[in-house]
Amino acid sequence: MMYCQECGTEIKEGNFCKKCNKDIKLKTPNNKINSNKEIKNKLASRRKEVNKNLKPAPKITRKEIIIAVVCLLVLVGIVVLGGAFFQIFKG
Ligand SMILES: [Zn+2]
Repeated sequence: MMYCQECGTEIKEGNFCKKCNKDIKLKTPNNKINSNKEIKNKLASRRKEVNKNLKPAPKITRKEIIIAVVCLLVLVGIVVLGGAFFQIFKG
């Protein structure tokens, strides 16, 4: 059961006080804040779901690029040195 916070009239239909001619929703700011919070939470959870569905592109940092280049250089160096040693042993 709902009552008008202004005049105490029982609200039988909807959220409108016939005596005050006012929407009693406007007289309950706490409910409004709560509903706003709920909406924000819903939006936040929805955004989280969207983020889950969309796989984020793997971020490659500059550090990782440097590490990759160094690894590549080391591998190339090993191959080149190995080839050189092979040629030396081969005569
Ligand atoms: Zn009223």
